[in-house]
This record gives sequence, C-alpha cells and structure tokens, in this order.
Amino acid sequence: MDKQKSLHMTPAEFRKTGYAVIDWIADYYENVDSYPVLSQVTPGAIKSRLPDAPPDSGESMETIIHDLNQLIIPGITHWQSPNFFGYFPCNTSGPAILADLISSGLGINGMLWSTSPACTELETHVLDWLADMLDLPDRFKSTGTGGGVIQDTASSSSLCALIAARERATKGKSNEIGCRDKMTVYASSQAHSSIEKAVMVAGLGRKNLRFINVDDSFAMNPDDLQDKIEQDIKDGYIPVYVCATVGTTSSTAFDPLKKIGAICGIYNIWLHVDAAMAGTAALCPEYRYIQEGLELADSYTFNPHKWMLTNFDCSCFYVADRNELINSLSVLPEYLKNQATQSGAVFDYRDWHIPLGRRFRSLKLWSVIRYYGVEGLRKYIRRHVALGQEFAGWVEANDRFQLMAPAPLNLVCFRYRASDKFNELLLADLNSSGNLYLTHTKLSGKYTLRLCIGQVHTTGKHVRQAWKMITEAAEKLEATI
Ligand code: PLP
Repeated sequence: MDKQKSLHMTPAEFRKTGYAVIDWIADYYENVDSYPVLSQVTPGAIKSRLPDAPPDSGESMETIIHDLNQLIIPGITHWQSPNFFGYFPCNTSGPAILADLISSGLGINGMLWSTSPACTELETHVLDWLADMLDLPDRFKSTGTGGGVIQDTASSSSLCALIAARERATKGKSNEIGCRDKMTVYASSQAHSSIEKAVMVAGLGRKNLRFINVDDSFAMNPDDLQDKIEQDIKDGYIPVYVCATVGTTSSTAFDPLKKIGAICGIYNIWLHVDAAMAGTAALCPEYRYIQEGLELADSYTFNPHKWMLTNFDCSCFYVADRNELINSLSVLPEYLKNQATQSGAVFDYRDWHIPLGRRFRSLKLWSVIRYYGVEGLRKYIRRHVALGQEFAGWVEANDRFQLMAPAPLNLVCFRYRASDKFNELLLADLNSSGNLYLTHTKLSGKYTLRLCIGQVHTTGKHVRQAWKMITEAAEKLEATI
C-alpha cells in the first residue's frame, strides 16, 4: 500500500479523483464512436489478463483507472455508440448519469417510506407525472386506486404482475399453500421470453403457458386467444393472466389491447401490458394509438432505461389496484415495523416488488424529465422515428432487400433476398467490422436483420453510413459466393 494512503478515500481525494472520473466519462462520450461497436475480444480474453488473486494492500484510483482503460474497455460493447443499432437501445444522458451519481453518493436504501421519505414520495410523484405525460389511464395513478413503482427491469414487472394475478385467481391461497391449482397464462408467440421465465419463477410451470397465434403483422390474434381460454376452461384449468405486448421485441408489433381486454373482462383474467421499449413513443400524441385499450389493463410496464434517456436500470410498473399487488407481496417482520407503516398513510415500496432494498432511482428519472421537458423528449423520439421511417423507405425501394415486418416506429426488420445462411454471413461480416452493430431475429421462420434506431447521438449521417455499409457488404458477399 502507498505510504500516504489512508484506509478510506478522504473528501479531498474524492473531489480530485471524482473530477478526473467525470472527465473520463466526458472523454468517453466524445470518443465513443471511435471504438469497435461490438467488442472484438474472444471468450476468456478479459479474465485471462486479470490477476489470479486480489491485492493484499490497497491500490490508488489512478492505478485502477489505468487498468480499466487497459483491461476492461476492450471487453466493452459500446451501447452508447451512435452506430449501435442492436437489440433495443439502452439510453443514458448527462442528467441521468449525474443524478445516478448523486443517488450513489447518498447511498440510501428506500425499502420503507421511513428509511428515506423523499425516495418514496418522489418516485410516486414522478410516476404520476409520467402517467400524465404518456396519457395513461387515470386508474394507474396513485391519486386513485393504483400507482406506479420503479423496478429493475420489465422482466421483474411482468413477474410481479403474474404473482398478483395468481393470488387474485386463487384468493391468496397460492401464497399460503403453494400453487396447487392448474393455472394457465397466455401471451403471443412473439411475446418476450421474460413472460416464459415469469411463469417458471411464479411456479405455474411453463407447460401452462399458451402461445397465441399472430396475424400477418405479428400481432396477437384475439380469436385464437379466446379459443385457447375456452378450451382450457373445459379442461379444468383456471386462466389467470394474459400478457399483451405493445412493441414486440422481434418487430415492434402491437397486440390489439381493446379486443384482448374485452376477452379478459369476460373471464376475469388479469391483463398485463408489456411496452418495454415502444411505450416511450406515447410521449408523442401521434403515437398514442399503440396503447388504445390500455384502460382495460390491470397492469402496465415500460422501460425509461430503453428509450427515454434514463440509464439502466429503470423500469416503470403501474397497477390499477395497488392493494392487489401489495397483498400478494407483503410480509412484515418485526424488525421492519414502524409508526409510518402502521399508520397506513404511506407507501412502502418494498411491498411492490421482490427485493426488500431499493436504490433511489426516481432521482435520475426526475432529472431527465426536468432537464429535457416534455417537448424535448418528444423531439428526441420523433427524430428516431423519422430516421427509422427513412431507413425502411430505402429498404423498400431496393429490390435486393425486403422488409420482413411493418416498421411503425424506430425498428426496421429486413433481409437480403437470399438464403438464411447468406443473411447470417452478412450480419457477421458487418458486426466484425466494428463499424456498426445490428442484431437478428427470425420472422415467418426466416433469418431477419434488425436495425433499431434509438441511440442518443445517432443522426442521419450514421443511418446513411449504416445503409451504405449494409448494401456494400451484401454486394461483396454476393460476389464471393
Ligand atoms: N419485454 C419486451 C417487449 C422487451 O423488448 C424486452 C427487452 O428487450 C423485455 C421485455 C425485457 O426487458 P428487461 O431487460 O427490462 O427485463
């Protein structure tokens, strides 16, 4: 250990190193497009360069940051690059990063209202703001019977909704004696894999998840949903939960919420709506058609950490009846009892999700909303959608390529008119160049490239470059085959 180094970092050292770290982050953002977007390391390469044992004596932050640059950065895929077009985006922004830093600095645990009242009350309030900003039904606001909570991910939100649905259907019995009833869950064949995982974790069993057929636009077919529910009832099952998706992962298809909601109403089934990425589009009035029928849902989730400039993790989860959620997740041991909880006048968010402890995540969301304002956020979304539409137009106009699904927002699914193998090679070729990063899916059984425009600093120039690289790589590949 360095002789001068005390056990803890002093405030003066923290200030000095902290400024250097902020510089490091600012430099990173200035240069992020100079790195290969997809990390080019081979499996095990990062680990093999790390020392076998931790240091006995403490080291300086300078040494740690030096090693970060040398050892860690090569193993980073640059999600914040303007040339990142893979999966769905995972946005950050200056106001979110700085507010998250303050949250780390405060180091609170907001498990109960009393363990930091501001953590709970800001979260409740900001989620009510967001409900208004997105024009969500009033029933999701805390001023009525519902309310919103920040979860780590949409996967957790969908799981909590399923647990509440399970308890509604079995009148709290499953929590008491375990899942004894034959319960069924419904989601389209295009729903995210987190629904299947939720069914496994909630103890319903994945065999009891029914995948509903989709139409030509990859949206859930409500007739098939109703047929499958009726068949299950005949067979002695209890249908408990339908998950509809607003913006599927493969192609941003929108399930018809009105029709699905009407069916759930007939059979008293919990309707959960997963709008993980696309939900943010509803900030703009012209895209609100995607959530038509949401007033029929029992719960709703979308991720500001995907497309709303709020760095990971931040998934907003709303319920129409908060008591159903709280009753299905609440356990109150002696050591957590306190006056505020017992008065019934406060929310204790530990009862709204799986973990007990929780970070002060609303701080970054509050900071983003205030920094950009509603108009700023709308501008941001509209720019990405316009770029997505432009790209889809280029694909459509080129007879060597084909669009594989409607492209209503910022995701374009397409392929070269050739074999699956060709398209696989094309993607591998593009991603190994390090100049851009796309991912793939399968639509109608065919290997499909996905290009999603959602990075903060992506401009028309980056999208034009991407299209040029794609067309040139396809021509080159065709010439070699
Ligand atoms: N639902 C949809 C529609 C998604 O697209 C995704 C991820 O892309 C998820 C859920 C899972 O998101 P999370 O990582 O927040 O669990």
